[in-house]
Amino acid sequence: MSDLRYETPKTAEAAAALLASASGPARVLAGGTDMLVQMRSGRVKPELLVDVKHISEMTNVAQENGGWRVGAAVSCMALVENKAFSSAWPGVIDGANLVGSVQVRGRATLGGNLCNASPAADSVPAMIAAGAIASVVGPNGRREVPVEQINAGPGKTSLAKGEIVASFFLPPRPAKSGDAYLRFTPRSEMDIAVVGVGINLTLDAQGMCTAARVSLGAVAERALLVPEAATALIGSKVDEAALAKLAAAASAAARPIDDKRGTKEFRIKVAGVLARRAAAAALARAQGNN
Ligand SMILES: Cc1cc2nc3c(=O)[nH]c(=O)nc-3n(C[C@H](O)[C@H](O)[C@H](O)COP(=O)(O)OP(=O)(O)OC[C@H]3O[C@@H](n4cnc5c(N)ncnc54)[C@H](O)[C@@H]3O)c2cc1C
Repeated sequence: MSDLRYETPKTAEAAAALLASASGPARVLAGGTDMLVQMRSGRVKPELLVDVKHISEMTNVAQENGGWRVGAAVSCMALVENKAFSSAWPGVIDGANLVGSVQVRGRATLGGNLCNASPAADSVPAMIAAGAIASVVGPNGRREVPVEQINAGPGKTSLAKGEIVASFFLPPRPAKSGDAYLRFTPRSEMDIAVVGVGINLTLDAQGMCTAARVSLGAVAERALLVPEAATALIGSKVDEAALAKLAAAASAAARPIDDKRGTKEFRIKVAGVLARRAAAAALARAQGNN
């Protein structure tokens, strides 16, 4: 059995340097709600764990340039309890608030939810719909990467050796904007999404949709940004005709697997149904009705 080294760096750069210089398997430890389960089952056997919960950049939530900067190691519960953030991005909170139980959310982070790279991760479609940009720190410096480009497939990210997600920037957005995330699960909680949909939209003074982003989770190898679904909403009043086009575009973009929790056909159908419902919820929020 090999020794396990545990480090608690105080900066993202120091964390990246530790990971980059590791000679054996090395992993980031955030909340540990995926990592410790994987270590106990023997699926991963790191020789170095780099705990990022002691890095202030990664544990802060603050307004920045009209938008929000959220540390990748902020717990879902801390985010849910942040009233100003929750009122700015209720759809992101929908996602964060569905991760596990209260106990799990007390540890689980957005960075861990993204970098664990489960196609069914609940916060990821909401973050993609929000247009969140990940600030990635690595041995060669810092780069800004749209969240939809971080995951490559189940359990795989596009991060290079030594790179970590330090924080997320959620951009400023106009008044009359709203977002929502909905998932379908056989049980009401402590279950994995069979389908998840995040939608973020903006209306003009006449109630016309001027901007939208739509993301689907659990229907492909990673969460998808679906521009064709957004196009169905833009230029409409998010009326029945637009919702029908949105549902068709969401179903067309879904390329799910069959498994014991849902067939391909079921997931494709549910992607359309949930997209409609998420659009209606985002619309109500944009209109100030929720
Ligand atoms: C009982 C239970 C129920 C759950 N229910 C749900 C659910 O309903 N929905 C859901 O989406 N998830 C669920 N999960 C999964 C898990 O809680 C989430 O994925 C969580 O957000 C992971 O965050 P973490 O901070 O605990 O990550 P960790 O376990 O610390 O890390 C996960 C992975 O990401 C890497 N990593 C972490 N942070 C970073 C970073 N900043 N940069 C680079 N790599 C990083 C780690 O090295 C590791 O590979 C559940 C887990 C449990 C145990």
